Amino acid sequence: MEKTLSIVKPDGTTKNLIGEVLRRFEGANLRVIALKMINLSKSEAEAFYSVHKDKPFFSSLTDFMSSGPCVVTVVEGESAISKVREIMGATNPDEAAEGTIRKDYASDIERNIVHGSDSLESASFEINYFFNALELNDRNSRD
Ligand code: ATP
Ligand code: MG
Repeated sequence: MEKTLSIVKPDGTTKNLIGEVLRRFEGANLRVIALKMINLSKSEAEAFYSVHKDKPFFSSLTDFMSSGPCVVTVVEGESAISKVREIMGATNPDEAAEGTIRKDYASDIERNIVHGSDSLESASFEINYFFNALELNDRNSRD
């Protein structure tokens, strides 16, 4: 079982897509094992996306991510990292496959509704950034 971190970004919560995003994950046999709604500060968004700190879009991205509420979730399942990324679609909605969240709802390459961890390493960093062990309702914690 793999865990990944996903975020319904501020454009997603504004467009009433929280349920739609979670429905797509659940429909793909993934399980939501932790969830919260938070308003990131600019500096919290910067720390979360620090891998992009030298990119030209960093300032705009972190302004956007701190512009409204995010729903942050931990999703568990077989190949959860790649499954969530497949359901999300490509970063740029113009390049996203039909039937993906970003193809259906993203307005541009920045405002693309949803985030998903891109590797085991980033999933571990990102899950720990938002949740402590007691907040993860995974199978092991119930044994
Ligand atoms: P995410 O990390 O949010 O799941 P991703 O892995 O598909 O998305 P990244 O390359 O990690 O894409 O970029 C992180 C986020 O930065 C993107 O989701 C998007 O919101 C924003 N972004 C990426 N590239 C650009 C760009 N060229 N211009 C503006 N914003 C961008
Ligand atoms: Mg990424």
